[in-house]
Amino acid sequence: MSKDSNRVIIIGAGPVGLCLALRLAQFGIPTTIMETLGTQNFLDQVPRAGTNHPVTLEMYDMIGLYEKIEPRGFRAPLFHYWDRAGPTMIAEFDHALLKNDTKFPYVLQCERIKIVEEAMAMALVNPLCTVMMSTTFTTFTQDANGVTAHAQTEDGDDVVVRGGYIVSAEGARSIVRKELDIEFEGFTYPDRTLNIEVVYDFKKHGYADRNYISDPDEWSNLFRWVGPPERWRVHFPTDPDDDPDFVCSPAELERRMQGFLPSSTPYDIRGSNLYTVHQRVATSFRKGRAILAGDAAHVNSPIGGMGLNSGIHDAFNLAEKLVAVIRGEAEDDVLDRYDRQRRTIAVKHTQAQTIRNKRLLTEKDPAVRQKNQDELRRTAADPELARQFLLRTALFTSVREAAEIA
Ligand SMILES: Cc1cc2nc3c(=O)[nH]c(=O)nc-3n(C[C@H](O)[C@H](O)[C@H](O)COP(=O)(O)OP(=O)(O)OC[C@H]3O[C@@H](n4cnc5c(N)ncnc54)[C@H](O)[C@@H]3O)c2cc1C
Repeated sequence: MSKDSNRVIIIGAGPVGLCLALRLAQFGIPTTIMETLGTQNFLDQVPRAGTNHPVTLEMYDMIGLYEKIEPRGFRAPLFHYWDRAGPTMIAEFDHALLKNDTKFPYVLQCERIKIVEEAMAMALVNPLCTVMMSTTFTTFTQDANGVTAHAQTEDGDDVVVRGGYIVSAEGARSIVRKELDIEFEGFTYPDRTLNIEVVYDFKKHGYADRNYISDPDEWSNLFRWVGPPERWRVHFPTDPDDDPDFVCSPAELERRMQGFLPSSTPYDIRGSNLYTVHQRVATSFRKGRAILAGDAAHVNSPIGGMGLNSGIHDAFNLAEKLVAVIRGEAEDDVLDRYDRQRRTIAVKHTQAQTIRNKRLLTEKDPAVRQKNQDELRRTAADPELARQFLLRTALFTSVREAAEIA
């Protein structure tokens, strides 16, 4: 095999692209990572994703990333479901119940930006990873022997890289997916989600580090993040017709926070942003030598923290197959198994679960709300039911089921 056909070209230095590169490097496979952002603005990305589930922590551990990010976040073994009326805590789940299932019986609250910062630092010193910053991928071609990726530097210079395979880890707007004419099936919620970053001690009101708060009119998520200063992120729904400038105006943010939890003093609000939530899965994760992973392949509501996590699971599943093919230990149709395994999980678990999560928080029918809450209470009260529930929410079940798909 020529040197070029061993190389995997990865588009996007997000968590999925970087973890894939680091995993392939462990097996001696060289990669070229193209990233449109430059070293000067790589860390200026909007806040998103930070709940890292136990099964994902096991994967970070395999590439030496866990020990880098652990000190930058914190362990959150507990999470709560609340009813905003009251407010009343409905159920508490403790990952300690998974102590015999994993070496990581907690989620790690550590933001995506810290994960990519640490993973990028590892890739930059890894001789098998060639990182091309400020390089925007534009198009590619494929033939029987490999792929040719075209990109442009910020100075307008053309870049051409040859490799054996190309992996689109460039996020939801994947150019590779569009060029392959692969449909991104699903829907987009009409209402955007408002994220407010606030400095306040919610724990004194009984909240855990992660809370899912149901309400027929104004559901919320409430998550703590490491400081300084220690911040919380509160998510609210918004009216699709509202002007974004109005929704994010200081007076309106304060009104939302006071409505959520009245306070005699104004909230110390440090930032806000609005995001659109899509539920979409690519109709195929592979065409020839081009493969989709992470948000390029599937996007979902962040309720439950499954987007980043399932993307990392794609990266590890795919790495195993690419290693086998490039080493000549498997035919390249093993990559179709990646498609079968990870696409099935994206549809059956990630999409289904995130849609259910949102429905649970927004349910308007009082009888159904009561039934849902009773079910959560019953599950939390029974250690074995709670363990099974946690195996699902911590994504062990989906990774195990994927492994069983031939
Ligand atoms: C508000 C919010 C909160 C979230 N919270 C969670 C959570 O708690 N847990 C969770 O699991 N998920 C969460 N998610 C989802 C999570 O952020 C994504 O699923 C995850 O970042 C996807 O990783 P990725 O590497 O596939 O793509 P991305 O993180 O989108 O990275 C793509 C990279 O590709 C680069 N790129 C794009 N186009 C090009 C190009 N043409 N050329 C070169 N480079 C390019 C981009 O600059 C970027 O660096 C959240 C999302 C949002 C919006």
